[in-house]
Amino acid sequence: MTSSPANRRMHRLMHRVIAALAMITAGLLVWHHYGMERVIDLTTRPDVRRDVMDDRWMGGTSRVSLERHGNALTMRCQLARTIDWPACKYQFAISDTESGIDLSEFDSVSFDVTYRGPGRRSLRLMVLNFEAGISKLDNPMSQKVNEVEFEVGAPGVIRVPLNVLHTATWWIDYMKVPLDDTDMRIDNVTRIELLTGATSTAGEHVIELRSLRLHGKWLTADELYMGLMAAWILCAVSWPALAALQLRRELGDSGRRLALLGEINAALQLEARELVEQANTDPLTGALNRQGLRAALMSTSSLLAPPMAVVFADIDHFKRVNDRHGHDTGDAVLRDFAATIHSEIRANDKLVRWGGEEFLIVCPATGAEQARQLAEKLRAALHAAAWPAGLRVTASFGIASRAQDEDIGAVIKRADAALYAAKAGGRDCVVLAGPPVLPGVESPRQPLGAQYD
Ligand code: GH3
Ligand code: MG
Ligand code: MG
Repeated sequence: MTSSPANRRMHRLMHRVIAALAMITAGLLVWHHYGMERVIDLTTRPDVRRDVMDDRWMGGTSRVSLERHGNALTMRCQLARTIDWPACKYQFAISDTESGIDLSEFDSVSFDVTYRGPGRRSLRLMVLNFEAGISKLDNPMSQKVNEVEFEVGAPGVIRVPLNVLHTATWWIDYMKVPLDDTDMRIDNVTRIELLTGATSTAGEHVIELRSLRLHGKWLTADELYMGLMAAWILCAVSWPALAALQLRRELGDSGRRLALLGEINAALQLEARELVEQANTDPLTGALNRQGLRAALMSTSSLLAPPMAVVFADIDHFKRVNDRHGHDTGDAVLRDFAATIHSEIRANDKLVRWGGEEFLIVCPATGAEQARQLAEKLRAALHAAAWPAGLRVTASFGIASRAQDEDIGAVIKRADAALYAAKAGGRDCVVLAGPPVLPGVESPRQPLGAQYD
């Protein structure tokens, strides 16, 4: 079964699927580690409003202005330390509603920045998250502030991991948020801001921002692992399922083959039976031939169980029929003769064409007297029958009843002798054979029997 071509094809296919899956797995893991990067550029996205703000809304006196050169933004800030927390900032407004964007799948943010200004040059990144139950649309300060401050060195790209963000403590104090809600969350971000450092020196700060990008993966590691695991599990499950399917198909095929073989076999058996029947039957009269009698005796041993009798019937002066009316008429007479006898005997009596116009009737469960009555009945039937060419057809009958343990050949011989006696006695009559000759007893003159007509 395993070596069938369809099965081999399926195994080859499964091996290919596994090899492909292994390659895809390795490829995806490597790609996920080194690439598969998803980037949102906030400096170019059309749906992001970019602006700058100073601290006058808080009562400060700093002044800010914005220049745009293509996508590059330059913030010019005259920082005045007239309040506790003076600041100028870039503001990237992503959403004005309560549904922002989910940045939790992103892992870093990068800035291509040049910073000119007095004192320590650092920037604060603030990611504002709208949180249900805490944030209100009419109060911009109610959005959770996640922040981190970082130094800016030489001009170039700075990459800040998002997992260093923390919820600003001043915001927690200001909003009086319960401890449970103070975790850093960036799953609903409406704004991203870039501010001058908390302890910036007063003076002119020029911050040129050429790009601000969010970096993440198209798939999180969890999603990737789950997906790969699902693919492998599916593969592991579908193999036996496919194998079972294949097996069922092959069983179906072999079942159909078996059914076909069965049909052929039945047809052949039928044909063989027909051949056997042909071999056992005389084609002209449909009576058994000698081979047929042998087969019948072999298959039905009860045929010979005493009491049983055999009746020999021989058409009288049949040679004359042939001579006067031709061989075909002779054949027709033979056919009609057999048919007439057939119609008179019982179903389990066997009619055998013993020779040319000589028939033997084997009569199981029949005594001598019964056999004689049968022969008389047959003789009468022949008298009554209509024959070809208006002929009158008669036959002579010799009967032998089988003695206990007598050989069937001997019984037939005695019946033949009785028939001979019937011929000698004038034909168209019935002669019952005498009892068999017992060993040691002097043989009486044969045939010893009574003649009837
Ligand atoms: P009796 O009364 O003594 O039996 O005389 P008979 O003429 O019947 O016997 P005989 O044995 O002399 O002749 C039998 C004839 O039967 C001879 C043969 O040509 C003919 N015969 C044998 N078989 C067939 C057959 O199949 N068809 C035909 N048409 N004739 C057959
Ligand atoms: Mg004859
Ligand atoms: Mg004869």
